[in-house]
Amino acid sequence: MGGWRPGLSVAAVRNRRVRDRGHRADLASEAAIARSAPVTTQSETTRSDRRPPVSEAVISARGLRISYGDFEAVRGIDLDVSQGEVFAFLGPNGAGKTTTVELLEGYLKRTAGEVSVLGVDPEHADPDWRERVGVVLQESAFEPDLTVRECLKLYGGYYGSPRPVDELIELVGLTEKADARGASLSGGQRRRLDVALALVGDPDLIFLDEPTTGFDPSARRAAWEMIAGLQALGKTIFLTTHDMEEAEHLADRICVLAAGRIVGEGTPQTLGGRDSARSEISFAWPAGVGRADLPPTVLSALTDEHHGRAELQSHAPMEVLGALAAWAHEHGYELGDIEVHRPTLEEIYLQLTDGSK
Ligand code: ATP
Repeated sequence: MGGWRPGLSVAAVRNRRVRDRGHRADLASEAAIARSAPVTTQSETTRSDRRPPVSEAVISARGLRISYGDFEAVRGIDLDVSQGEVFAFLGPNGAGKTTTVELLEGYLKRTAGEVSVLGVDPEHADPDWRERVGVVLQESAFEPDLTVRECLKLYGGYYGSPRPVDELIELVGLTEKADARGASLSGGQRRRLDVALALVGDPDLIFLDEPTTGFDPSARRAAWEMIAGLQALGKTIFLTTHDMEEAEHLADRICVLAAGRIVGEGTPQTLGGRDSARSEISFAWPAGVGRADLPPTVLSALTDEHHGRAELQSHAPMEVLGALAAWAHEHGYELGDIEVHRPTLEEIYLQLTDGSK
C-alpha cells in the first residue's frame, strides 16, 4: 500500500473534544493506560488461543439509550457492524455520534439497551478486551527521547502478541524515520506514530474519529489508502466522519444519526433510497425545437423548462436517455451539453437529516 506522505495525520479529533469537555479529560490517559496495560500472562499461549472467537457481529447494540442528566443524547438505537467492515457513522453536530462511540469504547455507561462489542459488554471490559480495540488519539504518549523503532518496541512489549515493529513502521509510512527520535518528528509524522501505537497490539476493531479533518487532498488520499489497507488485514473499522466523499470512498455501510436516532442506513449506493431516487436529465433545446417535438417517453419525463433548457426527471433514466438519443440522432441534434444527475450522497444525507434541526 501507498504509505503516508508528509503532513498526513490519521489522528482523531477526540482530544480536541476532551479539552472541550472537562469530564472527559481522562480519556486519553485511560486509553494510553489501556494500550500500555501489561498482559498478565505472557505464556507460550498464542494470541489466537487466548482470544474468544470473533463472532460475525463485531458490534451489536439494541435499544441503546444514553443520557446526560435529564438530556437523552442517544434515544434507542440499534447497530450491527460485521467483522471486516468499514462502517461509517454520520450525523450533524450534536447528533450523538461521539456519545455512542465512547460507550462502544467502554468509556461511558448507557441508561438502557443491550450492547456487545467483540462479544463483551464494554461496560465490563477487561484489559484483554481493550487490547483488541484500537482508538486513534490525536495526541498520545509518544516518547521524545526514543526513536520510532524503540518507542514501538517499548509499547509492543506490553502486549502478548504485538505486531512486528518493522511491519507497523511500513504500514504507517515511517520507514525513513524509523531511527529518528520522537522529538525530531514533524507533527504529521508524530501522528503517524500515534496510529502505529494504536495498532501495536494488533487490535481487531479500530475506532477512527474524523480521521482526515484538515488534511490536504493528497494526505487525505494516502490516509484512505491506509484505512483500506487495515481493512485488507481483516480489521473492522468504525469510522466517524463529516466528509461525504470519505464515507462514499471507504464505507461498506453507512449509518446516519440525527438527534440521537438513526434516520438512515445502507450502502453508499442505497442509503436513503439513493439507488431508486429519481435522476435528473437536462439539455438545451435545439434551435426551433419545443416540447411538442419530443417523443412520448421523453415528454412524459419533462418537468420544467428554464433558460432554454429542458429539465426531466425519471426513475428509469436509461429508458428516457435511450429515447432521447434515438430522437436526437434521427433529427441530427447534437445535445452536446446534456447533463445527467443522480442524487449525491451529500444530497441524500441532507434529506435524511433535514428534520433534525
Ligand atoms: P459532533 O459532530 O459535533 O462531534 P456528536 O454527534 O459527536 O457531534 P455528541 O458529542 O455525542 O454529538 O453530543 C450529543 C449531544 O449530547 C449534544 O447535544 C451534546 O451537547 C450533548 N452532550 C455531550 N456531552 C455532554 C455532557 N457531558 N453533558 C451534557 N450534554 C452533553
